[in-house]
Formats: sequence, structure tokens, C-alpha cells
Amino acid sequence: MESAGVVVKLDRGYPLVRLDNGEQVRCEHAAAVEKAGHVRAVIGDRALVELPGGHDKGIIRDILPRQTQFVRRDPAERTTGQVLAANFDLVIVVEPIVQLNFKRLERELVLAHETGARVAVVLTKADLSDEPASVRSQVADLAGASVAVVATSLQDEASIERARELVGKDEIAILIGKSGVGKSSLVNALAGRLVQNTAEVRADGKGRHTTVDRLMVPLPDGGALVDMPGVRGLGLWDADQGLGMAFEDVEGFASRCRFRDCSHENEPGCAVRKAVEDGELAEARVASYRSLAAEIAEVRERRAEADRMRGRKASDRRRR
Ligand code: GDP
Ligand code: ZN
Repeated sequence: MESAGVVVKLDRGYPLVRLDNGEQVRCEHAAAVEKAGHVRAVIGDRALVELPGGHDKGIIRDILPRQTQFVRRDPAERTTGQVLAANFDLVIVVEPIVQLNFKRLERELVLAHETGARVAVVLTKADLSDEPASVRSQVADLAGASVAVVATSLQDEASIERARELVGKDEIAILIGKSGVGKSSLVNALAGRLVQNTAEVRADGKGRHTTVDRLMVPLPDGGALVDMPGVRGLGLWDADQGLGMAFEDVEGFASRCRFRDCSHENEPGCAVRKAVEDGELAEARVASYRSLAAEIAEVRERRAEADRMRGRKASDRRRR
């Protein structure tokens, strides 16, 4: 018998799948699934599960096509992408309001937009800032009109409620952000209970101890959150679309450059340079755009090279 379900927890053990009848079952991958392009279930995946009679474990027979997915460049294998979560409706980028790293935020916004889901920003630790409203509006300007920006403090329940309202009743939101920005605290506050340990450092001092890598946490009024702890390094993968959405301001001017492949350096008729000169666009913004665009191009180049190598090896094998 086959049932459909959602992957709701990933830890050291087998993926935990919540079946549509509410039952939760640990599942291993069928050999055929593992062979099919090395697909492994990630949090949020919808799976078809077989439940052999008298067996305590299910078998994942198939993973359904992903509606949205969060992909970063695999930090170990730099020519492949790594899917970290699937089928979410909203990406919440979490940054602290004090010592906000704007460059990191820009990169996170590119990755978030590339997923195809809605994007929001939550600024944490507002109580530590003298001017939370001004930082918030700076971020809102940077993120653009399509991105809601909420400043929160654990000490201010109304601010937590505003963040909670970002997530619709039947929606799943994933949280991305560097460790230490306050994601676990935020998840606990939003869920209204302790679901994750915050800032718990291992005895050997090697960062925090996480037994649960990915967990879908239900919200009190519907909807769910997925925190992504321990995600180090957000290398860009295919992200042209995400770049375009995160840098609508720059691309808006770029569409008026004389040359289609303008690098916005010193070409004649460059509308981006002109916008900077006229004070309509910040120089730093253009620099960020160009460096992220270069990173995406480099990844694509490396990947094409790797594909060529693989192709060559395959044809070598055929010849032998
Ligand atoms: P994570 O690594 O992103 O999950 O971050 P944590 O949730 O573990 O939080 C990191 C640190 O920031 C902890 O010491 C928290 O107590 C602190 N923190 C989180 N939210 C707030 C806040 O709203 N105000 C203040 N003052 N500190 C906070
Ligand atoms: Zn230009």
C-alpha cells in the first residue's frame, strides 16, 4: 500500500515523513529512488511511501517534483548544487538589526528570490538598537517593495506577532541566516514554545550541538516554519533570476544601457554609471551587483567545464 506524505524532520536517522492521515513514520529510500539522479529527500519534500506490513519503517518510492527549492552551491563539491529544502511558500531572511551585514543580506536576498517563493526579512534584536526604525527603512529600501521587512525583539510580543503574520495559515516558511543572528530564538517565540535550543555551544567549543538538522515546526494558528541551522556558506548557484529580482533597481537602469552586454564600467551610454553620477543609485549597490553577477558567471563556467570533463570520460569509456 502506498501513501503520500511530507518530510517533516531530518536528523541523523532516517527521514521522518508525516503521512496524509497524520501518522508519522521513519522512511528509507528505495534503491531505485537513490539511483534516479541521486535524489534524496529534503525537508518539505512530498513523497510516496510504501508501508510494508509488519514493518516499522516505510520505504520512499518516489519524490514528487519540487514546487520551490532552496539551492546553494555544494561547499564540498563546487560544481554541483545542493538542495536544502523544498515546497515552501516563503523565505524569511533573518539578520540582526545591530551590526547588520548588508553585503550578506544582499546575497541572501538573491538566494531567497531564486527559489521562486515569496521573500521577507526579519530583523532581530531590535531592543539592542537606538534607531531600529531607520535601519528597518534602510533595509526596506534595499529589499524593494515586494519584500516585507519586520523588526522584532524577543521582549516585544507585538513585534513577534507582526513576524508571525508574515506566514499564511497553510504556508510553510523557511528561515535562512547566519548562526547567531537569533533564528532559534525567533522560531521558539513564533511557535510560542521551546522547540529548539538556542545558542547551545558544545563542550569541546566546536560550535553548537545540533542533533536535529531540519525540523518543520507548526505555528499556533496554522502554517509552519523550517529553521536551517548550521548552513554555513551560501554560495550562489543558478541565480540569474534571483539576482534580477534582488537588484531590480540596478537592472532597471541597466536595461537602458546602450550595449546589451554592458559591464557598467566605462562603456559609452551606460545608464547605470549615469544613475550613480546623478545620485540615483549607490555606488556600493552597483559594486555588489557586479560581484554577485561575476560569481554566478564563474559557477556556470566551472560547471560547464565539469560537464565537458564528464562527457569526455564517458566517451573515453565507450571507446574502450
Ligand atoms: P541562531 O544561531 O541564529 O539560532 O541564534 P540564537 O537564537 O541562538 O540567538 C543568538 C543569541 O542572540 C542568543 O544569545 C540570544 O539570546 C540572542 N537574541 C536572540 N534574539 C534576541 C533579541 O530579540 N534581543 C536580544 N537582546 N538578544 C536576542
Ligand atoms: Zn551599463
